[in-house]
Amino acid sequence: MRLPKFECFYPKTVDEACAFLAEHKDQTRIIAGGTDLVVALKQRRTLPQHLLNLKSIPDLSLISYDQKTGLSIGALATLDDVARNPEIKKLYPSLSQAASRVAAPQIRNKGTIGGNVALDSRCWYYNQSEFWRSTRPACFKAGGDCCYVVKGGKQCYSLISADTVPALITLDASVELVSKAGSRVVAVEKLYTGIGQTPNVIKADEILTRVLVPASSLKGVYIKHAYRGAIDFPLIGVAVSLSLNGGNTVEDVRIAIGAATPAPVRAVKAEAVLKGKALSDELLAEAGQVATKEVTPIVHIFAPVAYKRKMVEVLLKRAVGAANREQGIGSRE
Ligand SMILES: Cc1cc2nc3c(=O)[nH]c(=O)nc-3n(C[C@H](O)[C@H](O)[C@H](O)COP(=O)(O)OP(=O)(O)OC[C@H]3O[C@@H](n4cnc5c(N)ncnc54)[C@H](O)[C@@H]3O)c2cc1C
Ligand code: SF4
Repeated sequence: MRLPKFECFYPKTVDEACAFLAEHKDQTRIIAGGTDLVVALKQRRTLPQHLLNLKSIPDLSLISYDQKTGLSIGALATLDDVARNPEIKKLYPSLSQAASRVAAPQIRNKGTIGGNVALDSRCWYYNQSEFWRSTRPACFKAGGDCCYVVKGGKQCYSLISADTVPALITLDASVELVSKAGSRVVAVEKLYTGIGQTPNVIKADEILTRVLVPASSLKGVYIKHAYRGAIDFPLIGVAVSLSLNGGNTVEDVRIAIGAATPAPVRAVKAEAVLKGKALSDELLAEAGQVATKEVTPIVHIFAPVAYKRKMVEVLLKRAVGAANREQGIGSRE
């Protein structure tokens, strides 16, 4: 498949990039590693006049840690950089695990943390070639007025399937968004709309410059379930961060479930079941059951809703158990 025609702009600073976006935002797409956007271009899912290539901006890939302020990850840090960084491995193991589970090594060497957080929502009917899409009337996401996944649905239900997002939510992370008008910081938990056509609140003239993770006593794990573990997007991804109050009593816990729904879900009711109680098989079973009621999974072409619901329960139990046993070393599915 050939790329469509576009002009590429290579800014040298964030200010230059913001000035370009302010003028051309309606005809421009930001490109970082390009691992997702280039596929979208080839499939003619997006036909921008300009690409704004952030890779020409120095220092946007720095990773730094401070005991007081926590972790700062430049948007252009690759997923491999994040997965291998010794401080992230030690202090934020769920994030390191999540980054290490994205796709395959070639993609992790190119794909960035900013691109992962800003990743477009996905759907089996829409993420296809132009020819494939042309065989049926356009759905909501393609500018039409129907949905093939949720029959009778009034919006697009495509999924946020980015692996690092559930881990970032359980770590209480936020992102810095910069435009010509200034900058703002948005919690990752509040970044996603749940509407497939406009999946996040990043404005067309904004650039995600940094991911910020506070210093925390919570440590956790990320467990991903995918059909082909070496390359596929998650069918379900569960992240858990927790701290124990001596023994195995849960002092604090945060649970996030990704890839099941159009926006990631924070499982607050399951958290409430666990908080202040000693971990046991019975408690984990109860938390797993409660979590399945907090999530209404969208059907996947290879995974019925009931299967996804069951996997939420299974992965949640495994993730909390692993976080308890290993206090952050975690396990791989
Ligand atoms: C075969 C294959 C398998 C994959 N498997 C997985 C997987 O298992 N898990 C997973 O999470 N992802 C997966 N991906 C998707 C993708 O590779 C990763 O999500 C990657 O992190 C995207 O980062 P990137 O830098 O390449 O983003 P790009 O492709 O450059 O951009 C992605 C989107 O983010 C926007 N964007 C990028 N950077 C910024 C920024 N700084 N500010 C504002 N907007 C920005 C772009 O405009 C675009 O909309 C897969 C992709 C492929 C091709
Ligand atoms: S969820 Fe529905 S509207 Fe959205 S891309 Fe898929 S088929 Fe189209």
